Amino acid sequence: MSDFPNECQQCGRPNGGKGVCWECAVPVEQWRVGDIVTRYGDDEHEIISITDDHYLLDVKCIVPPGSGWIAEGEVEGNLARRYSFVRRG
Ligand SMILES: [Zn+2]
Repeated sequence: MSDFPNECQQCGRPNGGKGVCWECAVPVEQWRVGDIVTRYGDDEHEIISITDDHYLLDVKCIVPPGSGWIAEGEVEGNLARRYSFVRRG
């Protein structure tokens, strides 16, 4: 069992536990440095850089996931589409 939030963090509708729902999410084309995204729903990462085509992100972990695959303060680069928008930074 996990403690994933199952509701959209914006409107509160059921969302399967990944940030905000599709309707509330800011599309990846509009993500900016400083915005908060999640990979699995229980973690939060701050965007520290994003490519001009919004294909790749560097993100810094601010809330580590329960599974512990990354620790607070660690930075990783990854495909933007692996993440879901949580809120504006
Ligand atoms: Zn929503």
